[in-house]
Amino acid sequence: MAVNYADFRDIVPADYDALIVGSGFAGAVTARELAERGGMKVLVIEKRPHIAGNMYDEYDEAGILVHRYGPHIFHTNNKQAYDYLARFTTWSAYQHCVLADWYGTYMPVPFNKNSMEIAFGDEKAARLIQKLVDTFGDERKVTINELRAQSDPELQEIADFIYQNVFLYYTQKQWGLTPDEVDPSVTARVPVFVSRDNRYFQDAYQGMPESGYTELFANMLGHENITVCLNTEAESVFDLVFAGRDEDAPLAEIRLKDEAFTGPIVYTGPLDELFLGRFGRLPYRSLDFVYETFQEDYHLPCGTVNYTVTEDYTRITEFKWLTGQRGDVTTIMREYSRAYEDPATQIPYYAIINDENDALYERYRRLTDNLENFHPLGRLAEYRYFNMDKVVTDALAASERILAAREGREAVDAASGATPEAR
Ligand code: FAD
Ligand code: UDP
Repeated sequence: MAVNYADFRDIVPADYDALIVGSGFAGAVTARELAERGGMKVLVIEKRPHIAGNMYDEYDEAGILVHRYGPHIFHTNNKQAYDYLARFTTWSAYQHCVLADWYGTYMPVPFNKNSMEIAFGDEKAARLIQKLVDTFGDERKVTINELRAQSDPELQEIADFIYQNVFLYYTQKQWGLTPDEVDPSVTARVPVFVSRDNRYFQDAYQGMPESGYTELFANMLGHENITVCLNTEAESVFDLVFAGRDEDAPLAEIRLKDEAFTGPIVYTGPLDELFLGRFGRLPYRSLDFVYETFQEDYHLPCGTVNYTVTEDYTRITEFKWLTGQRGDVTTIMREYSRAYEDPATQIPYYAIINDENDALYERYRRLTDNLENFHPLGRLAEYRYFNMDKVVTDALAASERILAAREGREAVDAASGATPEAR
C-alpha cells in the first residue's frame, strides 16, 4: 500500500502509540516492526521533504536513477538483514568494484595482488606477493596499520607505497587529517587484500534494490498503522522537559502539542541537535555532491573511481554501474568532503571518532538516560560509522526490545552477523 502522508498540524498525538524521528533505515525498520508485529499506531516525523534518509534516490533530468546523499551499495554477512529487506525489494546481484586513479593509471582498491603488479611490475610484484603470502597467508586482509608495523624492508616498501599512494591524500581530503590521525578503525574499513579478488566488499550478501531505495522505503513505510509527516523537525515540535535547571539535568519527558508523549520515541537524528548544541556541536564531516551528465553509455570503467593522489574531490561514482540502468546517457557524481559548520545548510555525514568527541557524545547521551521511552538509534543518534546492514539489524533488535517490554516478555536476541563498522 502507498505511504500514508499527513500534515503535522493535523496530527493528534494521542492517536499514536509510538513516535519515530527520521525515516532512514533506523526509523523506517522500527516503524514497520512496531506497526506490523506490535499492531501499534506509529507516527514518523521526518525533517526532509522525502523519506529514505541518506539512501534516498530519484531520477534526474536525464532519466538516470541517482543517489542524492552519497553512493549506497548494500552488503552484509547477516542473512537476517538481507532477507528482511527482501520483503520490500528484489535485490539485484551487483558486486561493487573500485579503481584508484593513480596519476592516470587505474589500480584496484582494496590494494591487492593485481594492484601490486600495476604498481611494481610483474617481476618485482611476484616477489613481494610471495612475501605477503608468507607473512600473512593467502586470501588474507591486512590493515594498512598492520602492514606499516612490519620491520621487514620489503614489507616496509609495500606499506610505504600503499600509504603514500592510496591512503594519505584521500584521507586528508576526506577527513582533513592524515591516516595516522584518524581512528584506526576508519582506514581498517579498506584493507590491503592478499588476493586477486577485485571487489570492494567480500560480504556473502551484496546487491542493490532493483527499483531503487526510495521505492524500498515506500514499501516498508506503506502500512495501515504508519503515518509519515515530512518537513517536520523534532526540535520544532518537541517540548523538552528537564528534571532540573542546570545544563546536565536529564530529560524528564517529551511533550508534543502540550501533552507528554509516553509511548516509545525512537530518535534517529543527531543528539546534539535535539539539545540545540548546549554543550557544543558534535564534530562531523559533511559532503558536497556535484553531478554531471554525459551523452555516452558509460563514462567510467567501474562503479567508483577513487582519486588517491590527485584532484580535490575524493571519488566519482557512475550510478548506471550500480543500478544496471542502460542507455546512451549517463550521470556521474563527484564527492567533495567539507568541515561540518552549519546545521542549517549542511548535512552531518560522518561522525569524527576520537576520545574527545566520544566523551562529548556521552554527555549528550546521559541527558536521555532517565527517559525510559526514549531510544536513540542509528548512525547519527549513536554517533557511529555504521553501514546500512548494521543499522537494519540494530533497528530489528531495538524493535524487539520495545515490543517485548510492552508485552511483558523476554526479548528474543537474533544473531547479528553484520559486517564490521568503524570503531
Ligand atoms: P539516516 O539515513 O541519516 O536517516 C536519518 C533520518 O533522520 C534522515 O532522513 C534525517 O533527515 C532525519 N532527521 C535527522 N534529524 C532529524 C530531526 N531533528 N527531526 C526530524 N528528522 C530528522 N552504508 C552501506 O552499507 N553501504 C554504502 O555503500 C554506504 N555508502 C554511504 C555513503 C555515504 C556518503 C554516507 C554518508 C553513508 C554511507 N553509508 C553506506 C551509510 C548509510 O548511509 C547509513 O548506514 C544509513 O544512512 C544509516 O541510517 P540511519 O537511519 O541511521 O540514518
Ligand atoms: N581510504 C583511503 N583511500 C581509498 C579508500 C579509502 O584512504 O582509496 C580510507 C579513507 O580514510 C576513508 C576510509 O578509508 O575515509 C574508509 O573508506 P570507505 O570507502 O569505507 O569510506 P565510505 O564509503 O564510508 O566513505
